[in-house]
Amino acid sequence: MNSQRPFKQRYSFEFFPPKTPAGMEKLQTVRDELAKRNPDFFSVTYGAGGSTQERTINTVVNLHKQGISTAPHLSCIGATTETLTELLDLYKANDIQRIVALRGDLPSGMGAHGELRYANDLVEFIRKHSGDHFNIEVAAYPEFHPQAANAEQDLINFKRKVDAGANSAITQYFYNIDSYFYFVDRVETMGIDIPIVPGIMPITNYSNLIRFSDMCGAEVPRWIRKQLEAYGDDIESIKKFGEEVVTEMCERLLDEGAPGLHFYTLNQAEPSLNIWDNLSLSDQEKIAF
Ligand code: FAD
Repeated sequence: MNSQRPFKQRYSFEFFPPKTPAGMEKLQTVRDELAKRNPDFFSVTYGAGGSTQERTINTVVNLHKQGISTAPHLSCIGATTETLTELLDLYKANDIQRIVALRGDLPSGMGAHGELRYANDLVEFIRKHSGDHFNIEVAAYPEFHPQAANAEQDLINFKRKVDAGANSAITQYFYNIDSYFYFVDRVETMGIDIPIVPGIMPITNYSNLIRFSDMCGAEVPRWIRKQLEAYGDDIESIKKFGEEVVTEMCERLLDEGAPGLHFYTLNQAEPSLNIWDNLSLSDQEKIAF
């Protein structure tokens, strides 16, 4: 099995842009809690073709000013190169240095792909327009992207993003460690040597997790599903079990050489912080191996 050992470990937390002033206030509290752990960066999601785009921009610029580097997610599906250019310029003017570059998914009913069809086109576009200004993150799928023609094609398509200029990748969440290390092994044999950081989804709820995982192609292993199902409405037991399972998974990922962790916080501090503290990440020196 491969370890991504030559890389400095890095830790990040992902938010979504809140819809309401109350949501923004809550995010501020969550941000303040997480900022105490001094992560390497925050990131904020972006809705392809949707009305959340303005909220992403405002949230990113606001959080970035508060001292911890904040990266916008940026998707190209349904977008024009003109709006992408404006956004890149705006982020650069606000001293944003990292972007998570994605194809995105169009809301149902919205048909047009836009000028850039896949994430590799967006990475190429960002490099052409902004040179080396941005550190570009792309998405990786250890359990393969649900729309991929097949697993081999998906790996080839991942390589296109790296060849276009991506600096590092964040994975879709997974609960099967072997899928991550197999993915890392496979892409390294293809000559890819960027850090591939596991995306971590804390488990706090049964039905939402199953619904979301079905949509994005992440597999919840049967033993986890069955155990969560057995807890029914007992939220405390779900959270306790989820925390144990995900902490142990992160521990093994880091022990075996994963170059950091990226937490999908869903704008909640506690689940990610509990895992962080269980792993004693604040005590750990993030050194280059
Ligand atoms: P791509 O890399 O373009 O891949 C999409 C599909 O097309 C794959 O099946 C791939 O195999 C295939 N493909 C890729 N390139 C080619 C090519 N050149 N020719 C033919 N086929 C190709 N979604 C949001 O809407 N907003 C977000 O903020 C957001 N953040 C995310 C963050 C992370 C870390 C991850 C893992 C996902 C995120 N997503 C987000 C979800 C993501 O947008 C979807 O999974 C989307 O379906 C694919 O985006 P991508 O960038 O991986 O696409």
